[in-house]
Amino acid sequence: MPELPEVETICNGLNAMLPASRVLNHIVFHRKDLRFPLPVEHADWLHDAHLHSLTRRGKYLLFEWNNKTGECGFLINHLGMTGSWRRLAETEPVGKHDHVCLHWTTGEVFAYRDPRRFGSLQWSTTADGISALAEMGPEPLEKSWTSTVLHRSLEKRSGAIKQVLLDQKCVAGLGNIYVCEALFRAGIAPDQPASSLTPADCTVLYRTIRAVLRKAIKAGGSTISDFVQTGGGTGYFQHDFRVYGREGEPCSTCGTAIQKMTIAGRGTWWCPVCQPAS
Ligand SMILES: [Zn+2]
Repeated sequence: MPELPEVETICNGLNAMLPASRVLNHIVFHRKDLRFPLPVEHADWLHDAHLHSLTRRGKYLLFEWNNKTGECGFLINHLGMTGSWRRLAETEPVGKHDHVCLHWTTGEVFAYRDPRRFGSLQWSTTADGISALAEMGPEPLEKSWTSTVLHRSLEKRSGAIKQVLLDQKCVAGLGNIYVCEALFRAGIAPDQPASSLTPADCTVLYRTIRAVLRKAIKAGGSTISDFVQTGGGTGYFQHDFRVYGREGEPCSTCGTAIQKMTIAGRGTWWCPVCQPAS
């Protein structure tokens, strides 16, 4: 599932590929629903609308539109497991899994493809008009998120640190991959209670989360065109995974076999030596 760095990469890639005028001719919904019903009733509203901005919030893409009468509206897109955007080649027909198509006034067509259909595209009149965004925690790469903010958000949480970091209300955009990687690099056991982390632990974890995300965005940035054109498997930070998916392989730091456990139903990879229980 795309996490913050992949969604940021897709957002940057789409912004670079959009027609300069950013005026939509029309939108076509090729089915009525994905994970949630598609906002088919807003197709008329979007006719001739101007894309004011395309931004990322957590793991969501936010398309902000202004229509002909000056009203503002948002298409809020979650990529689910297999969602991706691509620009169709000139003579390319719409594919079986291209569920929503943006037809720009230039004649270009951008298709949202999602074979497994766990993604969503929802309508809102405000940037946080769906509950997942209204309740979302701070962006980890913004200045307002500090190690003190992180410590405050953990000190009353009794759950495992791994589980709390996956909660989008604590901090936005982290998923299983980057939480496993950040905890390894910070030397923190994934099942340690969140409330037991000291301010010093939080400083290390805070710096590590930001470093891992920045590095992944940089790695993804080099494959923007692949990611946007074909979606899915490329653009991840996968060549630099130290623990994620590496059960039984030697730890890159100490050589101990990487172990796997389940926390809150999610596979969790860690090194028992580098991430000792405290
Ligand atoms: Zn180790």
